[in-house]
Amino acid sequence: MNLSAPPQVELKSLSLSYPTLSGESIEALKDIDLVVQPGGFVCVVGPSGCGKSSLLHLLAGFLHPTCGEAIAEELPINGPDPRRGMVFQHPELYPWLTVYRNVEFGPRMRGIRGALLRERTERCLRMVRLWEFKEAYPYELSGGMQQRAAIARVLANDPHILLMDEPFGALDALTREHLQEELLGLWRQTGKTVIFVTHSVEEAVYLGTDVVVMTERPGRISDRFECPFSRNGGGGNSREVKARPDFVALRERILAKIWAIPEVRGSGGD
Ligand code: ADP
Ligand code: MG
Repeated sequence: MNLSAPPQVELKSLSLSYPTLSGESIEALKDIDLVVQPGGFVCVVGPSGCGKSSLLHLLAGFLHPTCGEAIAEELPINGPDPRRGMVFQHPELYPWLTVYRNVEFGPRMRGIRGALLRERTERCLRMVRLWEFKEAYPYELSGGMQQRAAIARVLANDPHILLMDEPFGALDALTREHLQEELLGLWRQTGKTVIFVTHSVEEAVYLGTDVVVMTERPGRISDRFECPFSRNGGGGNSREVKARPDFVALRERILAKIWAIPEVRGSGGD
């Protein structure tokens, strides 16, 4: 991480309200300040409905803030941009295209052709270990493979920032752990900035350089924790890391912060 470089992402006093049919608006995010350094891996955790997806949609440029500023690479976020790639919980693949055609779709649409397109598509497919499945259709792949294909599809646009919305949330535990390793490998190899939403605090502490905790709606950032494990680890046994006393202690500190939020504690709200 280069601390002297300008932030890769900066949110300043950002708020977001959704209009509703009844005329009232729903305040989803309030006064969010967030700085993400280049090469950072920021995990966002918080109760359901606190605005995590909304935050990613703002960063992707799908939504505009009601107040405040959203800046990426020193420019205001005005709309979607291939430099910011989004991976959703349910893989977004075109079912009528092969894995190869899915992955090359983005760069092809942007006019990239020939050897450059072929090399890039192959590199991305190999990165997620799907080269042998390039001629398969999405329905022929397992859930984990589909998610890997979706990640390759986003990587093919060579994004500087990866936005990931609970990308492993729908997968079984074993596949999830494998994909965590693959994502860490990709992140180390490419140096991309990642903003990753998850409801698993263990996953957040394992993957993140930072974990950001959001409060219930309207979502604010209540805490931010630095995590050393993804930077310092590598090649180790993930279960061993997750069982280490310093890992468990940090995980429990973050969980305690989340449990202090009334909605999760089950106090029944108002
Ligand atoms: P999370 O991802 O943390 O579960 P969301 O960002 O999906 O939370 O939603 C935050 C709040 O905004 C919720 O109360 C949700 O109902 C509301 N919301 C999300 N999308 C819309 C929308 N398109 N229109 C109106 N309200 C919305
Ligand atoms: Mg969500």
